[in-house]
Amino acid sequence: MDIRLSKDLGVDSPRIVNLRCPICGHLGAFHGLLNILDLKWIAHSATGRGVTSFNAGLRLCPNNDCRALVFVILKSAELQQAYPPEVIDFDSTNLPQPILQSLEEAIKCHAAGCNKASALMVRRVLEELCQAKNAQGADLKKRLAALGKTIVMPQELLDAADQLRILGNDAAHVEAKVYDKIGPDEAELAIELTKELLKAAYQYTALVDRLKELAKPATP
Ligand SMILES: [Zn+2]
Repeated sequence: MDIRLSKDLGVDSPRIVNLRCPICGHLGAFHGLLNILDLKWIAHSATGRGVTSFNAGLRLCPNNDCRALVFVILKSAELQQAYPPEVIDFDSTNLPQPILQSLEEAIKCHAAGCNKASALMVRRVLEELCQAKNAQGADLKKRLAALGKTIVMPQELLDAADQLRILGNDAAHVEAKVYDKIGPDEAELAIELTKELLKAAYQYTALVDRLKELAKPATP
């Protein structure tokens, strides 16, 4: 996002902004700090009839263990953008390192608005997952279908996942024009689906193991 200030420039008290901290991942009410004011400016529409107010300023993560500094842009008092950007939260419990690294990269790309790059990394996560679980098939869709038979996953979710363009069977999917149309919503959906698949493949088992531990007689 380009930030361009109009000449109609002033200062404003910092509003509280609710966001997920890009550093610690917790949701929080971010306040301004010390007596630092926001920059405020008014942008006029091309017709000159409409006006939109913008604020830009610094906010502090309320988590005392984090206290990250975040730069925010507000449009009509609503959060428009944060730097570092907000990221989709995820649970890394029990995920193998290569899969975790690829997923983190997919999420960072999405946060930065690089949706095609994010989709490519999601595809890589899915390929790595199928390989790790020995799910075989001629293409990614068939491999995911094979994976669905070995993990606990609602069939409806797997069926609906077929709508995702990033799962296209085309071996040259990177060059396919349809790939160019992937926007933030589809990239986010692909990440959310991937999180569910990873949960089913790695995290339910961790929970089951912990529950089984409870059933064991306590050692004297
Ligand atoms: Zn934080």
